[in-house]
Amino acid sequence: MAISEATYLKTMWERNECPNCRSAIPEGKRVGTGRKKDGGFCSLDCYTRYYAMELSEKAKLLKRSGRSHPNEP
Ligand SMILES: [Zn+2]
Repeated sequence: MAISEATYLKTMWERNECPNCRSAIPEGKRVGTGRKKDGGFCSLDCYTRYYAMELSEKAKLLKRSGRSHPNEP
């Protein structure tokens, strides 16, 4: 993946598309924190799902990195 998550969220904001389901966000219906780097979503459902997914992905990464030192207790 060439672009960072923050860049992705910003790009989708500028395109007026939802980062979760990729559909167009109706005028004035953007859901989010109001900051571009946190992204704008078409609905609260997409906002919740996107960040729920991110958290579980982060949890997986933490578990993997925990196994990178097999000789340590
Ligand atoms: Zn959406």
